[in-house]
Amino acid sequence: MIRYLRYSYCNTIKWCVNIHTSVHKQITSGAVLLTNITVHVKSYSSKVYCITEHNMSAFKLADYDCIGFDLDNTLVRYNIANLMHMEFNMLATFMVDNRRYSKKLLEPLTDNDLDFMQKGLLLDFERGNILKIGSDGVIHRACHGTHLLNKDQIQKIYSEQRWEVTDIFCNNVLDAWNGPLSEKVRSVLDYFDVPASLVFARAVDALDEEHESCQDKYNIWPDILDGMIYMFSIDHFESDKGIFGHIKQNPEKYLHKTDSTALISWLQQIKPKPVTFLLTGSNVDYVNFIANYALGEEWQFIFDIIVCYAKKPGFFTANRPFLDVIQNKNTDIISQQLERGKIYSEGNWKGLREFFRTMGKENPRCLYIGDNLVQDIYVPNAFAYCDTISVVEEIISEKHGYCTNLCSEQNLDEKMLNSKLWGSYFYLTDLKANVDTFWGHIIKKHSKLCISRVEEILTTAMDKPFPSFDNGGKS
Ligand SMILES: [Mg+2]
Repeated sequence: MIRYLRYSYCNTIKWCVNIHTSVHKQITSGAVLLTNITVHVKSYSSKVYCITEHNMSAFKLADYDCIGFDLDNTLVRYNIANLMHMEFNMLATFMVDNRRYSKKLLEPLTDNDLDFMQKGLLLDFERGNILKIGSDGVIHRACHGTHLLNKDQIQKIYSEQRWEVTDIFCNNVLDAWNGPLSEKVRSVLDYFDVPASLVFARAVDALDEEHESCQDKYNIWPDILDGMIYMFSIDHFESDKGIFGHIKQNPEKYLHKTDSTALISWLQQIKPKPVTFLLTGSNVDYVNFIANYALGEEWQFIFDIIVCYAKKPGFFTANRPFLDVIQNKNTDIISQQLERGKIYSEGNWKGLREFFRTMGKENPRCLYIGDNLVQDIYVPNAFAYCDTISVVEEIISEKHGYCTNLCSEQNLDEKMLNSKLWGSYFYLTDLKANVDTFWGHIIKKHSKLCISRVEEILTTAMDKPFPSFDNGGKS
């Protein structure tokens, strides 16, 4: 069954694939999708988008010699509502206790607060504003603190609704990753850092209220950054503090269990077998803990090689050496040669490709699957020429009732995924014309598919063709 959603958006599709249904359906007149999966098509056009062999490129897992996975929010899914509440409370408490911000930061989260938080927003540190931009860098929606600005207000602050910093950001996201621009702007990219946007907004509100006017310049972000560095310290896993210690103490509250049996048996049946790798930014002790909990004790057998604490996106662009991991602990011993079945930390993409060659893949075609649109999608694709699949749970929140059993479990998280204030994650809702959000554009340009969960594509036959985004953002 295929249903259309006539979104005002141009020439892009997203899909949510239900692996339990076998379908072979006509999509539009004359267009047939040859898969046995349910594909829910969201048209970005005022016209019904027509999938044809002419304008879609086919994507098959069988075309890849090496398939890699991110871990957090990709192979291991979190209870997003519980995770973001915990992160918000921890960061707000840090700000009040250690940096003497107003206790108003600690007020319980309301539905409006949950609605306020969305992935992909940009924080303008100095002005105290939060921005949503289109693929061309134009600022389409903005808040000062938690207060929504109208179009006139936006234009008064940002001439022609543009800001030179976001223009640079749009041209190359990495320009704002480190260096001077990272002191002016930050995009909240995943469920680990999204709560920082609300803490930032509440701190702006509190300062404005205290001084009875907006400030010329805010200096809140360095305090938030300190709080996040504290919260995400890898040392906290052992000491039961911070985010990792908290999840370790209450895994059932924060982690979903994944059916890894299906994934493992699927991998065992594939001939010829691709090289499989796990590439995660998380530290090895935390990786071992959450993977054991969510994927089961056999989780290491899924992968030919495991790289932890990979320091993405630099993993794909820099040349840091791989370091040995001994008895589930990091060391500073530089690995001499990567071996199948082992775990390493740090490292680099070039070295990993060398390992693929030792596995008999001379000129390997690689696919990486992840949720972070900078670390897992943009950089691997733009700088390492690796194909990618975006895992974006927001597809579910914008389903308008059309998803079936795969999506129904996630209703509790929908308030976190969906935002009435900011509108769609994928496209701009305030325009008559059809315009991608910046992140909708990145998905189209730098990934082959966009799915809400890895199970939606894995465990299907390797040689099944999926209609994919045409790289270049044209599809
Ligand atoms: Mg992730």
